[in-house]
Amino acid sequence: MNRGAHLVLHQSFMGMFKIRVYFFLLGALAFSISNTYENIINAEKCIISIPDLTFFNQSNPGYSAVAKPFNLRLTPTPALVTIPYNVTVSARSGGHSYAAYALSGNIVVDLSEMKSVVLNPDNTTVVQTGTRLGDLALSIFNQGGRALPHGTCPYIGTGGHTLYGGFGHFGRVGGLLLDTVVSADIVLANGTLVTLTPQHHNNLLTAIRGGGPSFGIVVSWTYQTLPAPPTTVKYLILFPNSPSPNALPAADALNIYSLWQSFIQNKPDEFSAIAIFGNASLGNVVLAFAGTYYGTEEEAVDLLNPFINSIPSCLRPNISIEALGWIEGLGSFANGLGNGPLNTSLAPDSSLITNSPTPESNLKNFINYMATNGSLEKADTSWFVQADLYGGQIARLGNGTSFDHRSAFLVYQFYASSVMPPYPSDGISFVDGIVKTLTTSPAPPGYPNYIDPELVPDDLWKQAYFPTKATELRNIKDSVDPNGVFDFPEGF
Ligand SMILES: Cc1cc2nc3c(=O)[nH]c(=O)nc-3n(C[C@H](O)[C@H](O)[C@H](O)COP(=O)(O)OP(=O)(O)OC[C@H]3O[C@@H](n4cnc5c(N)ncnc54)[C@H](O)[C@@H]3O)c2cc1C
Repeated sequence: MNRGAHLVLHQSFMGMFKIRVYFFLLGALAFSISNTYENIINAEKCIISIPDLTFFNQSNPGYSAVAKPFNLRLTPTPALVTIPYNVTVSARSGGHSYAAYALSGNIVVDLSEMKSVVLNPDNTTVVQTGTRLGDLALSIFNQGGRALPHGTCPYIGTGGHTLYGGFGHFGRVGGLLLDTVVSADIVLANGTLVTLTPQHHNNLLTAIRGGGPSFGIVVSWTYQTLPAPPTTVKYLILFPNSPSPNALPAADALNIYSLWQSFIQNKPDEFSAIAIFGNASLGNVVLAFAGTYYGTEEEAVDLLNPFINSIPSCLRPNISIEALGWIEGLGSFANGLGNGPLNTSLAPDSSLITNSPTPESNLKNFINYMATNGSLEKADTSWFVQADLYGGQIARLGNGTSFDHRSAFLVYQFYASSVMPPYPSDGISFVDGIVKTLTTSPAPPGYPNYIDPELVPDDLWKQAYFPTKATELRNIKDSVDPNGVFDFPEGF
Protein backbone atom coordinates (compact mmCIF):
# COMPACT_ATOMS: atom_id res chain seq x y z
CA MET A 1 0.00 0.00 0.00
CA ASN A 2 1.36 3.38 -0.96
CA ARG A 3 0.84 5.40 2.19
CA GLY A 4 1.17 8.64 0.25
CA ALA A 5 -1.61 7.79 -2.16
CA HIS A 6 -4.72 9.91 -2.14
CA LEU A 7 -8.07 8.57 -3.09
CA VAL A 8 -8.42 8.67 -6.85
CA LEU A 9 -11.81 8.79 -8.43
CA HIS A 10 -11.91 7.48 -11.97
CA GLN A 11 -14.28 8.82 -14.56
CA SER A 12 -16.51 6.54 -16.53
CA PHE A 13 -18.60 7.77 -19.39
CA MET A 14 -21.80 7.26 -17.41
CA GLY A 15 -20.47 8.79 -14.23
CA MET A 16 -18.65 11.72 -15.80
CA PHE A 17 -21.09 14.46 -14.91
CA LYS A 18 -21.25 13.26 -11.35
CA ILE A 19 -17.57 12.92 -10.81
CA ARG A 20 -16.96 16.44 -12.00
CA VAL A 21 -19.22 17.66 -9.25
CA TYR A 22 -17.24 15.75 -6.74
CA PHE A 23 -13.89 16.92 -8.04
CA PHE A 24 -15.03 20.52 -8.14
CA LEU A 25 -16.27 20.36 -4.60
CA LEU A 26 -13.12 18.69 -3.48
CA GLY A 27 -11.20 21.62 -4.91
CA ALA A 28 -13.58 24.33 -3.82
CA LEU A 29 -13.90 23.08 -0.30
CA ALA A 30 -10.25 22.21 0.09
CA PHE A 31 -11.42 18.84 1.32
CA SER A 32 -8.73 16.25 1.64
CA ILE A 33 -8.67 12.71 2.87
CA SER A 34 -5.97 12.17 5.41
CA ASN A 35 -3.18 9.97 4.17
CA THR A 36 -2.70 7.99 7.32
CA TYR A 37 -3.05 4.27 6.73
CA GLU A 38 -6.01 3.93 9.13
CA ASN A 39 -7.86 6.78 7.51
CA ILE A 40 -7.36 5.34 4.05
CA ILE A 41 -8.78 2.03 5.26
CA ASN A 42 -11.72 3.80 6.87
CA ALA A 43 -12.34 5.90 3.78
CA GLU A 44 -12.19 2.76 1.65
CA LYS A 45 -14.73 0.99 3.88
CA CYS A 46 -16.97 4.00 3.66
CA ILE A 47 -16.69 4.34 -0.13
CA ILE A 48 -17.40 0.67 -0.80
CA SER A 49 -20.55 0.84 1.33
CA ILE A 50 -22.12 3.19 -1.25
CA PRO A 51 -24.68 1.21 -3.25
CA ASP A 52 -24.13 1.02 -7.03
CA LEU A 53 -20.53 2.17 -6.74
CA THR A 54 -17.95 0.22 -8.72
CA PHE A 55 -14.59 0.25 -6.96
CA PHE A 56 -11.16 -1.27 -7.37
CA ASN A 57 -8.49 -1.63 -4.72
CA GLN A 58 -5.16 -3.36 -5.11
CA SER A 59 -6.55 -6.79 -4.30
CA ASN A 60 -9.18 -6.49 -7.02
CA PRO A 61 -8.43 -8.21 -10.39
CA GLY A 62 -9.48 -5.16 -12.42
CA TYR A 63 -7.19 -2.80 -10.50
CA SER A 64 -4.19 -2.82 -12.82
CA ALA A 65 -6.37 -1.91 -15.80
CA VAL A 66 -8.19 1.00 -14.18
CA ALA A 67 -5.05 2.32 -12.43
CA LYS A 68 -2.93 2.23 -15.63
CA PRO A 69 -1.57 5.69 -16.48
CA PHE A 70 -1.09 7.09 -19.98
CA ASN A 71 2.63 7.43 -19.28
CA LEU A 72 3.70 3.82 -18.68
CA ARG A 73 7.10 4.94 -17.37
CA LEU A 74 5.25 5.76 -14.14
CA THR A 75 3.59 3.25 -11.83
CA PRO A 76 1.15 5.07 -9.54
CA THR A 77 -0.65 2.94 -6.95
CA PRO A 78 -3.82 4.70 -5.80
CA ALA A 79 -5.44 3.12 -2.75
CA LEU A 80 -8.81 2.98 -4.43
CA VAL A 81 -10.28 3.74 -7.82
CA THR A 82 -14.04 4.28 -7.88
CA ILE A 83 -16.45 4.60 -10.76
CA PRO A 84 -19.49 6.34 -9.35
CA TYR A 85 -22.82 5.61 -10.91
CA ASN A 86 -26.16 6.57 -9.40
CA VAL A 87 -24.34 8.29 -6.56
CA THR A 88 -26.30 11.07 -4.92
CA VAL A 89 -24.83 14.15 -3.27
CA SER A 90 -26.32 16.28 -0.51
CA ALA A 91 -25.01 19.47 1.05
CA ARG A 92 -24.96 20.29 4.73
CA SER A 93 -24.92 23.88 5.85
CA GLY A 94 -26.18 24.23 9.44
CA GLY A 95 -27.45 20.64 9.78
CA HIS A 96 -30.86 21.71 11.13
CA SER A 97 -33.08 19.85 8.65
CA TYR A 98 -35.91 18.27 10.64
CA ALA A 99 -35.78 15.31 8.25
CA ALA A 100 -31.96 14.96 8.31
CA TYR A 101 -31.91 15.49 4.54
CA ALA A 102 -28.48 17.11 4.63
CA LEU A 103 -27.29 13.56 5.32
CA SER A 104 -29.44 11.90 2.66
CA GLY A 105 -26.81 11.71 -0.11
CA ASN A 106 -24.30 8.91 -0.67
CA ILE A 107 -21.74 11.70 -0.48
CA VAL A 108 -22.27 14.59 1.93
CA VAL A 109 -20.57 17.90 1.26
CA ASP A 110 -20.23 19.72 4.57
CA LEU A 111 -20.01 23.47 4.00
CA SER A 112 -19.51 24.45 7.63
CA GLU A 113 -16.02 25.88 7.05
CA MET A 114 -17.28 28.19 4.29
CA LYS A 115 -18.43 31.11 6.40
CA SER A 116 -17.12 34.34 4.96
CA VAL A 117 -19.49 37.33 5.17
CA VAL A 118 -18.62 40.49 3.25
CA LEU A 119 -20.75 43.64 3.38
CA ASN A 120 -20.37 45.60 0.13
CA PRO A 121 -20.48 49.41 -0.15
CA ASP A 122 -23.93 49.10 -1.83
CA ASN A 123 -25.19 47.26 1.29
CA THR A 124 -25.50 43.91 -0.39
CA THR A 125 -23.71 41.15 1.49
CA VAL A 126 -22.02 38.07 0.03
CA VAL A 127 -22.43 35.17 2.44
CA GLN A 128 -20.96 31.70 2.07
CA THR A 129 -23.54 29.07 2.85
CA GLY A 130 -21.76 27.50 5.82
CA THR A 131 -22.49 30.71 7.72
CA ARG A 132 -25.00 30.31 10.54
CA LEU A 133 -27.70 32.89 11.23
CA GLY A 134 -26.23 34.22 14.48
CA ASP A 135 -22.84 34.84 12.89
CA LEU A 136 -24.47 36.42 9.84
CA ALA A 137 -26.47 38.84 12.01
CA LEU A 138 -23.44 39.81 14.10
CA SER A 139 -21.18 40.23 11.10
CA ILE A 140 -23.37 42.52 8.96
CA PHE A 141 -24.33 44.57 12.01
CA ASN A 142 -20.68 45.01 13.02
CA GLN A 143 -19.59 45.78 9.46
CA GLY A 144 -22.21 48.49 8.85
CA GLY A 145 -25.25 48.45 11.15
CA ARG A 146 -27.22 46.27 8.71
CA ALA A 147 -29.82 43.57 9.24
CA LEU A 148 -31.64 40.75 7.43
CA PRO A 149 -34.96 39.02 8.15
CA HIS A 150 -34.37 35.40 9.22
CA GLY A 151 -35.16 32.77 11.83
CA THR A 152 -34.48 33.00 15.53
CA CYS A 153 -32.16 30.03 16.20
CA PRO A 154 -28.56 31.27 15.72
CA TYR A 155 -27.30 27.81 14.76
CA ILE A 156 -29.42 27.40 11.61
CA GLY A 157 -27.36 27.47 8.41
CA THR A 158 -27.97 30.03 5.67
CA GLY A 159 -27.90 27.18 3.12
CA GLY A 160 -31.07 25.27 3.92
CA HIS A 161 -32.83 28.21 5.61
CA THR A 162 -32.71 30.43 2.49
CA LEU A 163 -33.48 27.63 0.05
CA TYR A 164 -36.89 27.07 1.67
CA GLY A 165 -37.82 30.48 3.16
CA GLY A 166 -36.32 31.95 6.31
CA PHE A 167 -38.94 33.34 8.68
CA GLY A 168 -38.42 35.38 11.84
CA HIS A 169 -39.80 38.35 13.78
CA PHE A 170 -38.39 40.86 11.29
CA GLY A 171 -40.13 39.08 8.40
CA ARG A 172 -43.21 41.28 8.31
CA VAL A 173 -40.82 44.22 7.74
CA GLY A 174 -38.27 42.59 5.42
CA GLY A 175 -39.93 39.46 4.02
CA LEU A 176 -38.44 35.99 4.18
CA LEU A 177 -34.66 35.64 3.94
CA LEU A 178 -35.11 34.30 0.40
CA ASP A 179 -36.85 37.56 -0.57
CA THR A 180 -33.59 39.43 0.03
CA VAL A 181 -31.52 37.23 -2.32
CA VAL A 182 -30.25 39.19 -5.32
CA SER A 183 -27.89 36.54 -6.69
CA ALA A 184 -26.33 33.20 -5.83
CA ASP A 185 -23.32 31.09 -6.82
CA ILE A 186 -24.23 27.47 -7.33
CA VAL A 187 -22.42 24.27 -8.36
CA LEU A 188 -24.57 22.33 -10.81
CA ALA A 189 -24.69 18.60 -11.44
CA ASN A 190 -22.55 19.04 -14.58
CA GLY A 191 -19.76 20.41 -12.42
CA THR A 192 -20.01 24.03 -13.45
CA LEU A 193 -20.05 26.94 -11.03
CA VAL A 194 -22.72 29.40 -12.16
CA THR A 195 -23.69 32.83 -10.87
CA LEU A 196 -27.46 33.20 -10.92
CA THR A 197 -28.92 36.69 -11.26
CA PRO A 198 -32.26 38.03 -12.52
CA GLN A 199 -30.47 38.67 -15.86
CA HIS A 200 -28.74 35.28 -16.12
CA HIS A 201 -30.44 31.96 -15.35
CA ASN A 202 -33.37 33.71 -13.70
CA ASN A 203 -35.53 30.57 -13.77
CA LEU A 204 -32.93 28.72 -11.70
CA LEU A 205 -32.55 31.65 -9.33
CA THR A 206 -36.34 31.61 -8.91
CA ALA A 207 -36.23 27.84 -8.27
CA ILE A 208 -33.68 28.03 -5.48
CA ARG A 209 -35.50 30.94 -3.82
CA GLY A 210 -38.02 28.63 -2.17
CA GLY A 211 -37.87 25.38 -4.17
CA GLY A 212 -35.20 23.83 -1.92
CA PRO A 213 -31.98 21.88 -2.45
CA SER A 214 -32.88 19.86 -5.59
CA PHE A 215 -30.99 21.93 -8.13
CA GLY A 216 -27.35 22.11 -7.02
CA ILE A 217 -25.11 23.16 -4.16
CA VAL A 218 -25.30 26.84 -3.36
CA VAL A 219 -21.85 28.12 -2.47
CA SER A 220 -22.80 31.69 -1.60
CA TRP A 221 -25.80 34.01 -1.44
CA THR A 222 -25.83 37.73 -2.12
CA TYR A 223 -28.51 39.36 0.01
CA GLN A 224 -29.81 42.92 -0.05
CA THR A 225 -29.54 44.05 3.57
CA LEU A 226 -31.75 46.53 5.42
CA PRO A 227 -30.79 49.12 8.02
CA ALA A 228 -30.97 47.52 11.48
CA PRO A 229 -33.90 49.09 13.34
CA PRO A 230 -32.68 51.23 16.25
CA THR A 231 -35.03 49.57 18.73
CA THR A 232 -36.54 46.12 19.12
CA VAL A 233 -39.32 46.15 21.69
CA LYS A 234 -39.75 42.60 22.97
CA TYR A 235 -42.99 41.67 24.72
CA LEU A 236 -44.07 38.59 26.64
CA ILE A 237 -47.59 37.87 27.87
CA LEU A 238 -47.82 35.12 30.49
CA PHE A 239 -50.56 33.83 32.80
CA PRO A 240 -48.73 33.08 36.04
CA ASN A 241 -51.77 33.18 38.33
CA SER A 242 -53.51 30.24 36.71
CA PRO A 243 -54.00 26.76 38.21
CA SER A 244 -50.51 25.65 37.27
CA PRO A 245 -47.63 27.86 36.06
CA ASN A 246 -48.67 29.70 32.90
CA ALA A 247 -51.48 27.21 32.24
CA LEU A 248 -55.12 28.03 31.65
CA PRO A 249 -58.25 25.88 31.86
CA ALA A 250 -59.15 24.79 28.29
CA ALA A 251 -62.23 27.04 28.10
CA ASP A 252 -60.24 30.13 29.11
CA ALA A 253 -57.43 29.24 26.71
CA LEU A 254 -59.99 28.97 23.91
CA ASN A 255 -61.47 32.35 24.74
CA ILE A 256 -58.09 34.10 24.95
CA TYR A 257 -56.65 32.44 21.85
CA SER A 258 -59.75 33.46 19.86
CA LEU A 259 -59.31 37.04 21.08
CA TRP A 260 -55.65 36.95 20.02
CA GLN A 261 -56.50 35.59 16.56
CA SER A 262 -58.83 38.55 16.00
CA PHE A 263 -56.45 41.07 17.55
CA ILE A 264 -53.41 40.25 15.38
CA GLN A 265 -55.18 40.91 12.09
CA ASN A 266 -54.28 44.09 10.17
CA LYS A 267 -51.44 45.10 12.45
CA PRO A 268 -48.54 47.29 11.24
CA ASP A 269 -45.62 45.49 9.59
CA GLU A 270 -43.42 46.49 12.53
CA PHE A 271 -45.44 44.21 14.83
CA SER A 272 -44.69 40.47 15.15
CA ALA A 273 -46.61 37.92 17.17
CA ILE A 274 -46.33 34.28 18.21
CA ALA A 275 -48.47 32.07 20.43
CA ILE A 276 -47.12 28.99 22.19
CA PHE A 277 -49.04 26.07 23.68
CA GLY A 278 -47.54 23.40 25.94
CA ASN A 279 -48.55 20.60 28.28
CA ALA A 280 -50.15 21.12 31.68
CA SER A 281 -52.29 19.10 34.07
CA LEU A 282 -55.45 17.41 32.76
CA GLY A 283 -57.99 19.94 31.45
CA ASN A 284 -55.45 22.76 31.22
CA VAL A 285 -52.97 23.96 28.66
CA VAL A 286 -49.97 26.28 28.80
CA LEU A 287 -50.54 29.37 26.68
CA ALA A 288 -48.14 32.28 26.20
CA PHE A 289 -47.81 35.11 23.70
CA ALA A 290 -44.67 36.91 22.60
CA GLY A 291 -43.34 39.09 19.84
CA THR A 292 -41.56 42.25 18.88
CA TYR A 293 -42.30 45.77 17.76
CA TYR A 294 -39.77 47.77 15.75
CA GLY A 295 -40.61 51.25 17.10
CA THR A 296 -40.96 52.91 20.49
CA GLU A 297 -42.02 51.27 23.73
CA GLU A 298 -45.02 53.64 23.97
CA GLU A 299 -46.26 52.62 20.53
CA ALA A 300 -45.89 48.96 21.48
CA VAL A 301 -47.93 49.47 24.66
CA ASP A 302 -50.65 51.29 22.70
CA LEU A 303 -50.77 48.46 20.18
CA LEU A 304 -51.01 45.71 22.81
CA ASN A 305 -53.48 47.42 25.15
CA PRO A 306 -56.70 46.53 23.28
CA PHE A 307 -55.79 42.84 23.51
CA ILE A 308 -54.71 43.00 27.16
CA ASN A 309 -57.86 44.91 28.10
CA SER A 310 -60.08 42.37 26.36
CA ILE A 311 -58.81 39.53 28.57
CA PRO A 312 -61.22 38.84 31.49
CA SER A 313 -59.89 40.62 34.58
CA CYS A 314 -59.75 37.42 36.66
CA LEU A 315 -57.18 36.07 34.19
CA ARG A 316 -55.16 39.27 33.79
CA PRO A 317 -51.72 38.27 32.51
CA ASN A 318 -48.28 39.51 33.39
CA ILE A 319 -46.84 41.59 30.60
CA SER A 320 -43.18 42.32 30.20
CA ILE A 321 -42.07 44.89 27.67
CA GLU A 322 -38.39 45.58 27.06
CA ALA A 323 -36.75 48.01 24.62
CA LEU A 324 -33.55 46.47 23.25
CA GLY A 325 -30.97 47.12 20.54
CA TRP A 326 -31.09 45.05 17.33
CA ILE A 327 -28.48 42.49 18.37
CA GLU A 328 -29.81 42.26 21.97
CA GLY A 329 -33.28 41.73 20.52
CA LEU A 330 -32.09 38.81 18.38
CA GLY A 331 -30.20 37.36 21.34
CA SER A 332 -33.29 37.62 23.52
CA PHE A 333 -35.05 35.05 21.29
CA ALA A 334 -31.95 32.96 20.57
CA ASN A 335 -32.81 30.28 23.09
CA GLY A 336 -36.55 29.90 22.55
CA LEU A 337 -37.95 32.85 24.42
CA GLY A 338 -34.87 33.16 26.59
CA ASN A 339 -31.52 34.80 26.02
CA GLY A 340 -28.72 33.02 24.20
CA PRO A 341 -25.49 33.89 22.43
CA LEU A 342 -25.57 34.65 18.71
CA ASN A 343 -21.96 33.67 18.18
CA THR A 344 -22.22 30.01 17.23
CA SER A 345 -18.56 29.26 17.69
CA LEU A 346 -19.30 29.11 21.45
CA ALA A 347 -20.94 26.65 21.46
CA PRO A 348 -40.79 14.98 14.43
CA ASP A 349 -41.90 18.03 13.32
CA SER A 350 -44.84 19.13 11.21
CA SER A 351 -46.41 22.40 10.16
CA LEU A 352 -49.72 23.84 9.05
CA ILE A 353 -50.53 27.14 7.38
CA THR A 354 -53.89 28.86 7.81
CA ASN A 355 -54.80 31.73 5.48
CA SER A 356 -57.53 33.17 7.71
CA PRO A 357 -58.58 32.89 11.37
CA THR A 358 -59.57 29.34 12.29
CA PRO A 359 -63.28 28.95 13.19
CA GLU A 360 -63.98 28.65 16.91
CA SER A 361 -65.41 25.12 16.55
CA ASN A 362 -62.03 23.86 15.26
CA LEU A 363 -60.16 25.86 17.87
CA LYS A 364 -62.27 24.24 20.57
CA ASN A 365 -61.29 20.74 19.37
CA PHE A 366 -57.66 21.86 19.03
CA ILE A 367 -57.40 23.18 22.58
CA ASN A 368 -59.45 20.39 24.16
CA TYR A 369 -57.22 17.81 22.47
CA MET A 370 -54.08 19.45 23.87
CA ALA A 371 -55.65 19.81 27.34
CA THR A 372 -56.66 16.13 27.45
CA ASN A 373 -54.50 13.90 25.19
CA GLY A 374 -51.58 16.28 25.68
CA SER A 375 -51.92 16.62 29.44
CA LEU A 376 -49.11 15.68 31.80
CA GLU A 377 -51.21 12.75 32.99
CA LYS A 378 -51.90 11.31 29.52
CA ALA A 379 -49.10 12.18 27.11
CA ASP A 380 -45.80 10.35 27.38
CA THR A 381 -44.23 12.86 25.07
CA SER A 382 -43.00 16.34 25.65
CA TRP A 383 -44.60 18.68 23.10
CA PHE A 384 -45.35 22.23 22.15
CA VAL A 385 -47.22 24.04 19.40
CA GLN A 386 -46.22 27.45 18.06
CA ALA A 387 -48.23 29.77 15.80
CA ASP A 388 -46.36 32.55 13.96
CA LEU A 389 -48.07 35.57 12.41
CA TYR A 390 -47.13 36.03 8.72
CA GLY A 391 -48.36 38.83 6.42
CA GLY A 392 -46.77 42.26 5.99
CA GLN A 393 -43.94 42.18 3.44
CA ILE A 394 -44.09 38.38 3.27
CA ALA A 395 -47.51 38.72 1.64
CA ARG A 396 -46.46 41.57 -0.69
CA LEU A 397 -43.14 40.22 -2.00
CA GLY A 398 -42.86 37.07 -4.06
CA ASN A 399 -41.82 37.93 -7.62
CA GLY A 400 -38.95 35.73 -8.68
CA THR A 401 -39.37 33.26 -5.83
CA SER A 402 -40.89 29.79 -5.43
CA PHE A 403 -42.29 30.18 -1.91
CA ASP A 404 -45.88 29.10 -2.47
CA HIS A 405 -47.71 30.42 0.60
CA ARG A 406 -47.71 34.20 0.31
CA SER A 407 -51.22 34.50 1.72
CA ALA A 408 -50.33 32.72 4.97
CA PHE A 409 -51.94 34.21 8.07
CA LEU A 410 -50.67 31.86 10.78
CA VAL A 411 -48.00 29.19 10.36
CA TYR A 412 -48.26 26.46 13.01
CA GLN A 413 -45.37 24.23 14.10
CA PHE A 414 -46.10 21.04 16.03
CA TYR A 415 -43.33 19.39 18.05
CA ALA A 416 -43.30 16.19 20.06
CA SER A 417 -40.06 14.93 21.55
CA SER A 418 -38.47 12.98 24.32
CA VAL A 419 -35.48 14.18 26.27
CA MET A 420 -33.51 11.07 25.31
CA PRO A 421 -34.02 8.45 22.58
CA PRO A 422 -36.02 6.36 21.89
CA TYR A 423 -38.59 8.64 20.31
CA PRO A 424 -41.96 8.16 22.10
CA SER A 425 -44.02 5.56 20.26
CA ASP A 426 -47.10 7.79 20.18
CA GLY A 427 -45.22 11.00 19.31
CA ILE A 428 -46.19 11.09 15.64
CA SER A 429 -49.79 9.95 16.17
CA PHE A 430 -50.16 12.55 18.93
CA VAL A 431 -48.99 15.35 16.61
CA ASP A 432 -51.22 14.03 13.81
CA GLY A 433 -54.11 14.17 16.27
CA ILE A 434 -53.51 17.86 16.95
CA VAL A 435 -53.27 18.69 13.23
CA LYS A 436 -56.52 16.80 12.53
CA THR A 437 -58.42 19.09 14.89
CA LEU A 438 -57.55 21.99 12.59
CA THR A 439 -57.81 20.37 9.14
CA THR A 440 -58.97 17.13 7.51
CA SER A 441 -56.57 17.41 4.55
CA PRO A 442 -53.92 14.64 4.37
CA ALA A 443 -51.46 17.24 3.07
CA PRO A 444 -52.48 20.63 4.44
CA PRO A 445 -50.43 23.67 3.40
CA GLY A 446 -47.09 23.61 5.22
CA TYR A 447 -43.79 25.47 5.41
CA PRO A 448 -40.97 23.45 3.79
CA ASN A 449 -38.36 24.63 6.29
CA TYR A 450 -40.38 22.59 8.82
CA ILE A 451 -40.03 19.66 6.47
CA ASP A 452 -42.03 16.62 7.52
CA PRO A 453 -40.63 13.24 6.44
CA GLU A 454 -44.08 11.69 7.01
CA LEU A 455 -45.26 13.44 3.81
CA VAL A 456 -43.08 11.32 1.51
CA PRO A 457 -45.70 8.69 0.49
CA ASP A 458 -47.64 9.69 -2.64
CA ASP A 459 -45.63 12.90 -2.90
CA LEU A 460 -47.94 14.55 -0.35
CA TRP A 461 -45.14 17.05 0.31
CA LYS A 462 -45.61 18.56 -3.16
CA GLN A 463 -49.23 19.35 -2.34
CA ALA A 464 -48.33 20.72 1.09
CA TYR A 465 -45.31 22.82 0.17
CA PHE A 466 -45.66 23.62 -3.55
CA PRO A 467 -49.38 23.50 -4.41
CA THR A 468 -49.02 25.68 -7.52
CA LYS A 469 -45.30 25.51 -8.31
CA ALA A 470 -44.45 21.78 -8.25
CA THR A 471 -44.70 21.19 -12.02
CA GLU A 472 -42.60 24.22 -12.89
CA LEU A 473 -39.95 23.23 -10.34
CA ARG A 474 -39.87 19.66 -11.65
CA ASN A 475 -39.25 20.97 -15.19
CA ILE A 476 -36.35 23.11 -13.99
CA LYS A 477 -34.93 20.14 -12.11
CA ASP A 478 -35.06 18.02 -15.29
CA SER A 479 -33.14 20.67 -17.18
CA VAL A 480 -30.29 21.05 -14.65
CA ASP A 481 -30.05 17.67 -12.96
CA PRO A 482 -31.57 15.08 -15.32
CA ASN A 483 -29.77 12.18 -13.63
CA GLY A 484 -30.76 13.03 -10.09
CA VAL A 485 -27.40 13.78 -8.48
CA PHE A 486 -29.17 15.95 -5.89
CA ASP A 487 -32.17 13.67 -5.35
CA PHE A 488 -33.62 13.16 -1.87
CA PRO A 489 -37.02 11.90 -0.65
CA GLU A 490 -38.79 15.29 -0.79
CA GLY A 491 -36.80 16.68 -3.70
CA PHE A 492 -37.87 17.40 -7.27
C1 LIG B 1 -33.96 24.46 16.49
C2 LIG B 1 -34.53 24.93 15.17
C3 LIG B 1 -35.09 26.20 15.10
C4 LIG B 1 -35.62 26.65 13.88
N1 LIG B 1 -36.17 27.91 13.81
C5 LIG B 1 -36.60 28.39 12.61
C6 LIG B 1 -37.08 29.73 12.48
O1 LIG B 1 -37.10 30.51 13.45
N2 LIG B 1 -37.52 30.13 11.27
C7 LIG B 1 -37.49 29.32 10.16
O2 LIG B 1 -37.88 29.77 9.07
N3 LIG B 1 -37.03 28.04 10.26
C8 LIG B 1 -36.58 27.57 11.44
N4 LIG B 1 -36.10 26.29 11.53
C9 LIG B 1 -36.08 25.45 10.33
C10 LIG B 1 -34.79 25.70 9.50
O3 LIG B 1 -34.92 26.92 8.80
C11 LIG B 1 -34.61 24.54 8.49
O4 LIG B 1 -34.44 23.34 9.19
C12 LIG B 1 -33.44 24.81 7.53
O5 LIG B 1 -33.66 24.12 6.33
C13 LIG B 1 -32.12 24.41 8.15
O6 LIG B 1 -31.08 24.81 7.33
P1 LIG B 1 -29.61 24.26 7.67
O7 LIG B 1 -28.71 24.73 6.60
O8 LIG B 1 -29.28 24.54 9.08
O9 LIG B 1 -29.85 22.69 7.61
P2 LIG B 1 -29.21 21.51 6.76
O10 LIG B 1 -29.70 20.29 7.46
O11 LIG B 1 -27.74 21.68 6.60
O12 LIG B 1 -29.89 21.69 5.34
C14 LIG B 1 -31.29 21.61 5.13
C15 LIG B 1 -31.55 21.15 3.68
O13 LIG B 1 -30.92 22.05 2.76
C16 LIG B 1 -29.90 21.39 2.03
N5 LIG B 1 -28.76 22.31 1.95
C17 LIG B 1 -28.10 22.89 2.98
N6 LIG B 1 -27.17 23.72 2.53
C18 LIG B 1 -27.23 23.68 1.19
C19 LIG B 1 -26.52 24.33 0.15
N7 LIG B 1 -25.57 25.21 0.40
N8 LIG B 1 -26.84 24.04 -1.14
C20 LIG B 1 -27.81 23.14 -1.43
N9 LIG B 1 -28.51 22.49 -0.49
C21 LIG B 1 -28.23 22.77 0.81
C22 LIG B 1 -29.59 20.11 2.78
O14 LIG B 1 -29.08 19.08 1.93
C23 LIG B 1 -30.94 19.78 3.39
O15 LIG B 1 -31.77 19.13 2.44
C24 LIG B 1 -35.58 25.81 12.73
C25 LIG B 1 -35.03 24.52 12.83
C26 LIG B 1 -34.51 24.09 14.04
C27 LIG B 1 -33.92 22.70 14.13
